[in-house]
Amino acid sequence: MLRVLRDGHRGSDVQRWQEYLISEDLLAKAADGVFDEATDRATRAFQVQEKLVVDGRVGEKTLGRARERGMRLLRRVRDDELTQAMIEESKKILRAHHQDPFGTEVPFSLAGADYVARIERHYHPPGGARRPWGEHPGVSLFVFLKPAQAEPVADEDAEGEPLATPPAEPGLFRLSERSRERLRGVHPDLVRVVTRAISMSDVDFVVLEGLRTLERQKQLLKQGATRTLNSRHLSGHAVDIAPFIDETISWHWPHYHPLATTIKRAAQLEAVPVIWGGDWSSFPDGPHWELPRDKYPA
Ligand SMILES: [Zn+2]
Repeated sequence: MLRVLRDGHRGSDVQRWQEYLISEDLLAKAADGVFDEATDRATRAFQVQEKLVVDGRVGEKTLGRARERGMRLLRRVRDDELTQAMIEESKKILRAHHQDPFGTEVPFSLAGADYVARIERHYHPPGGARRPWGEHPGVSLFVFLKPAQAEPVADEDAEGEPLATPPAEPGLFRLSERSRERLRGVHPDLVRVVTRAISMSDVDFVVLEGLRTLERQKQLLKQGATRTLNSRHLSGHAVDIAPFIDETISWHWPHYHPLATTIKRAAQLEAVPVIWGGDWSSFPDGPHWELPRDKYPA
């Protein structure tokens, strides 16, 4: 799953994006892998130029457009993907190019896949297991990706020696205090799903409502906001969840589908059956999630 890049992110995927912005003359700084204010501004400039939604986030749409315009999507080859042939090829390239400037790229193909070998500055701490010690030119291998395969790259190099593995990135978002409060009285299985979902989500979201009083339900019925007095909210078997985008709650339907995918995946991982109101054919309800009545009678 593609990480949606935005302000505050770090990593080689950010660096790739910055390199692209630089090549488009939108960013005037080094590609340092830190998604900072300048990168945010350049991203927005790109989105304005391409008539995309201007949110400073680099997701499928923004990246897809960049790709159409010639951006290459590369990811570092993982150690467990290295074959002897790839290692031999890397050594050959390093012998031929070790005096070239860092950043020199040498494309090659092997067994039907396209790779790029990049000469990079490698550093192995003196006394450590990895040789040679100190700073030296090394080869890092990248493979071209189809968009569906895109994923954050791991920092490993091509010599079959993994660098210290960066810690798994914690979830980007956590439930706000208000969201947690609104989960009070909600069935613990549903709470588990919501909690799991936020830890996996690359979109922030808020809990709008959980447990509902009968008075409020009557009020909503009067307002036409609901069609029933028999809501699953009354028994704590439902929650309403909305994506939180650009500092505000989104009612924009396209924002609900990716969120729904994440919540369904979280429910699967928690082995809790859930029903999404967005799947209802009559009166679809994008924010609404409930536990099925047959498994969870009120
Ligand atoms: Zn609801």
